[in-house]
Amino acid sequence: MTALSLQSPVAAMKGVGERLAERLARLGIERVEDLLFHLPLRYQDRSRLTPLGGLRPQQEVQVQGRVLHAEVVVRRRRALLVRIGDDSGQLTLRFFHFGGTQRQQFAPGHCVRAFGEVRAGAAGLEMVHPEYRILAAAESEPLERTLTPVYPTTEGVGQATLRRLIGLARAYGGLHEWLPDDLLPVALRYGLSEALSLIHAPPVDVDTAALMAGRHPAQRRLAFEELVAHQLGMARLRAQARAEAAPALPRPERDALSTRFVANLPFALTAAQRRVLEEIAHDLGRPHPMLRLVQGDVGSGKTVVAIAACLQAVDGDCQAALMAPTELLAEQHFRNAERWLAPLGVRVAWLSGRLRESRRNEMLAELADGRAALAVGTHALFQAAVRFARLGLVVIDEQHRFGVHQRLALREKATAAGLHPHQLVMTATPIPRTLAMTAYADLDYSVIDELPPGRKPVVTVAIPDTRRPEVVERIRAAVGRGQQVYWVCALIEESEVLQCETAEATHALLSEALPEMAIGLVHGRLKATEKEAMMHAFKDGRIDLLVATTVIEVGVDVPNASLMIVENAERLGLAQLHQLRGRVGRGSEASSCVLLYHPPLGETARRRLQVMRETQDGFEVARHDLEIRGPGELLGTRQTGLARLRVADMVQDGDLIPAALEAAHRLVAQAPTETDALIRRWVAGGVRYAQV
Ligand code: ADP
Ligand code: MG
Repeated sequence: MTALSLQSPVAAMKGVGERLAERLARLGIERVEDLLFHLPLRYQDRSRLTPLGGLRPQQEVQVQGRVLHAEVVVRRRRALLVRIGDDSGQLTLRFFHFGGTQRQQFAPGHCVRAFGEVRAGAAGLEMVHPEYRILAAAESEPLERTLTPVYPTTEGVGQATLRRLIGLARAYGGLHEWLPDDLLPVALRYGLSEALSLIHAPPVDVDTAALMAGRHPAQRRLAFEELVAHQLGMARLRAQARAEAAPALPRPERDALSTRFVANLPFALTAAQRRVLEEIAHDLGRPHPMLRLVQGDVGSGKTVVAIAACLQAVDGDCQAALMAPTELLAEQHFRNAERWLAPLGVRVAWLSGRLRESRRNEMLAELADGRAALAVGTHALFQAAVRFARLGLVVIDEQHRFGVHQRLALREKATAAGLHPHQLVMTATPIPRTLAMTAYADLDYSVIDELPPGRKPVVTVAIPDTRRPEVVERIRAAVGRGQQVYWVCALIEESEVLQCETAEATHALLSEALPEMAIGLVHGRLKATEKEAMMHAFKDGRIDLLVATTVIEVGVDVPNASLMIVENAERLGLAQLHQLRGRVGRGSEASSCVLLYHPPLGETARRRLQVMRETQDGFEVARHDLEIRGPGELLGTRQTGLARLRVADMVQDGDLIPAALEAAHRLVAQAPTETDALIRRWVAGGVRYAQV
């Protein structure tokens, strides 16, 4: 028998066949060591027995008793009911799937030990499909001496299998400490093996609350190592991406398209826009892909920066693609791009999921043969059928709406030609620096930290919806002054249908109250053409008041709109409120935002509305958001496309990030071998990053 080590493939372990190995691979487990780093989601306490008389619904507990009675009942569903009892009380075990032998096991007088969740049933407390054992040697069987881990599983790999295999792996020994002790924060100088033992088999006297919350020092020790490995992995990804070839796009000269575009604008760029554009132009001039994130608060003017960058690509005989997260926003970008670029002789193609077949084929042909220099669209741009003649730059607007996967999928678009496109990612969601460094560690970072001149602050008030008539008067006054108004119906129900119905009802009410006004309605269930026509009419001033669902949340730009009403504002998060409010205050008129709430206000909602009244700075809003909600939500994995972390939590372990960054830098400098090993350990052989 050859010696097995932690680096051996799991298939080399006893009892692991090819099928099981394949299934384990789905969990990211390929080598024996990966088992050690497959960490519990939570724990069960099977170290004690709870007396049957002391059970409460919703508790997950272990119990033991003698079978009093077992019978098969057929009401709505056939079920096996087993009544067990101890000195203190009784409990029913309920099984819907059972075989004949199972029935016989529950002979009266047999002793059963069961683990499961207690529920209130029709005839007292019960457990549905508990895990159970019939105890042969009566009540003397020992209890678990540690908490029982519950692992993430996949089809065909149960808890028992994982517990057994992880137990075997723990017995291998020889786990290597790749992080030198002096790189660990002092409070976390915990041996790695020791930390893993505690996590896989916590002694019953462990600080359970800390463990359950993921705050035990052993877990923090692992979280730290994971953050270091994550950082190293991202740095590697970044280095790889930067080593690829990209078209070097010459810097704009005096007669370049981008220079002419900027000169033709009815305004001068702000200093911040010029600085960021300069950073971009520099990156684009290099023969390696740019990977740059531009953050700029709502209304800071990211669109013109993006278009200017696209024109540098066009000047360099390449195509550019501009992708937006919603149809509405993509349409708006398309209309702007056409208006700006037609005079320059640049052809723009439009791709959305809802184009007619013939139109779509036309667009695809123009992109494939290079007639269209710029493509604007939604995620329809990633589809396999979309081919570019020579894609040089991809711009992704409002990145927080897309995942890292989609971002990388677009990057693959041009590999056929051997060149990778440059990538520009734009977002209005400000996130604190340390989080940004972790979440977007593969990107360079620019900030447009200045708003165009002449913007008047948006006066924000929060008032109860009992004062709706007053609000209607405000609308009348604003429209009387030639201004336009948004009325946003925030969701009361998660359902889009209901949301649209609410908007329709509001539209009807307002039409009655304000008969002299042209009132429009947009919601997610309208056809794309209808939405577009409505937004067009609003933009042209043919509509005074636009009733909308939160579909208008991102990017919509109508400078003459100076009043926004948000109904049920207490239901929305800060980031969303800030985005919505960003739709007004874009012109020279003083603007205001009325947050209508339905009393009584909860504490969190009250704090949110207060923040909105007090500040208009997106970074400030984000800081408060972080305090109120925590980054879990601010930075949900789905939203930002963060790589999945196993132990570390961006919020809870956020304080470890600076030290982890520092450790990663020192490790790269001092010990390149260690960096490989750490990435391999935590990033499952690099696949997690490579596959996205
Ligand atoms: P965001 O950064 O939120 O995407 P937009 O690009 O939509 O902002 O720009 C908001 C508005 O400001 C648009 O009407 C745009 O034309 C205008 N704008 C952009 N840059 C400037 C500038 N330097 N001076 C004046 N207005 C500008
Ligand atoms: Mg925008």
